[in-house]
Amino acid sequence: MAYETVIGLEVHIELATRSKMFCGCSTDFDAPPNTSVCPVCLGMPGVLPAMNRSAVDSAVAVGLALHCTVSRWSKMDRKNYFYPDLAKNYQISQYDLPLCREGWLDIEVDGAARKIGITRAHLEEDTARNTHTLGGGDSGVDFNRSGVPLLEIVSEPELRSAEEAFQYLTTLKQIIQYLGVSDCNMEEGSLRAEANVSLRPAGAAELGTKTEIKNVASFSGTQKAIEYAIARQRQILEAGGAIDQETRGWDPDRGVTVPQRSKESAHDYRYFPEPDLVPLVVDESWEQRIRESLPELPQARRARFREQYGLSVYDADVLTATRAMADYFEATVKAGAPAKRAANWLMVELLALLTAAKRAIRECPVTPEDLAEMIGLIEDGTISGKIAKALLADMFETGKTPRALVEEKGLVQISDSSQLEGVVREVIAANPGPACEFRGGKKKALGFLVGQVMKATKGKANPKMVNEIFRRELGTGQEG
Ligand SMILES: [Zn+2]
Repeated sequence: MAYETVIGLEVHIELATRSKMFCGCSTDFDAPPNTSVCPVCLGMPGVLPAMNRSAVDSAVAVGLALHCTVSRWSKMDRKNYFYPDLAKNYQISQYDLPLCREGWLDIEVDGAARKIGITRAHLEEDTARNTHTLGGGDSGVDFNRSGVPLLEIVSEPELRSAEEAFQYLTTLKQIIQYLGVSDCNMEEGSLRAEANVSLRPAGAAELGTKTEIKNVASFSGTQKAIEYAIARQRQILEAGGAIDQETRGWDPDRGVTVPQRSKESAHDYRYFPEPDLVPLVVDESWEQRIRESLPELPQARRARFREQYGLSVYDADVLTATRAMADYFEATVKAGAPAKRAANWLMVELLALLTAAKRAIRECPVTPEDLAEMIGLIEDGTISGKIAKALLADMFETGKTPRALVEEKGLVQISDSSQLEGVVREVIAANPGPACEFRGGKKKALGFLVGQVMKATKGKANPKMVNEIFRRELGTGQEG
């Protein structure tokens, strides 16, 4: 039987606000355990939560970027369950009236566009962290993370393959990073993705029983876990078995999912309205203020880069991968570098230096102005492209300006024709064989001869002039 794969994704992002969702504690949860805490986020009886306006701003920004309707009126609810990382025995979340609903995300898979529905995006609070590695069989709970604002973004079950799920996550993360509302660091848990996977006979309207995959540390891991889940369910269904509704974790070492717990349904949580918080009212002017503050989003920026700078699809994709990268590129162009040249130097040489140094573009010691100045030095013939590569590495290493380094190291290109003629004649005299070959029509020999001049001048000779002088000296100037 042919099956159709149905995947829905739930993504939790930690909002990068300064303080927690319902109290004034710092969100720096890497502080020593249980130091960023107060009676509210420790879940003491009798305390009163107060909503963090900045977290609402961030949630509305994400909702608008995902084409959602922002609710004029929503409320917080208590989601009741018992777990050691949840001291109140309930999490403040949103149940039937989420802040944002009914949006979509445009993704691209193998060049084809797909529009994936967003069911809802709602605000809630993070839990504390359990640690089971204290030694001596002890476990600890660190409440620094308790109450950190979370935004849960739920997709419609409209994804049809693991590859589409991967693209959805990548595209969503890029938008959220452009908005600057979360660092989306999966390893540190500031972005967590859960996938609901089910199969149904092709053409069936009813959804099959789903399994939920949790606790995967990377998007590629999520993709692999979904692929595994699809194969596993197909095998069970084809053997005439039934799928258990359960939560499964991903074991990356063995490449399999393992059962974790049978899944609760919504009514197990006994949701009811949070009586200690007033309803959340986001009026038109509030929504408008956030709409006006939205940055240009990746899709729009990619299109503009192709249009305005004449860049290829590939170049525009690479240069808009992060907002920091796109900003760096535009600052370089603004500082006077031709766009195509700036794109090449940034994408090839500078990215290689950053990768080798394990640094983000944000931490790049070469400023866009310095890169533009360096490109200017090539354009006006002061330095050769070959020297520029070494120069850029020096700039990266020392943080000095290109002009300072060129002067300090005497890297100025030799464009003095009489000086170059002298070197060319020496090279011809020392290499009669290749010189003779070139004269006889063997064009390859010229490369060798030019290389010798570069060696003698430590790469500083103007290559265009050297080529011309060789042709003149060896009498092949007319051949071109
Ligand atoms: Zn607190």
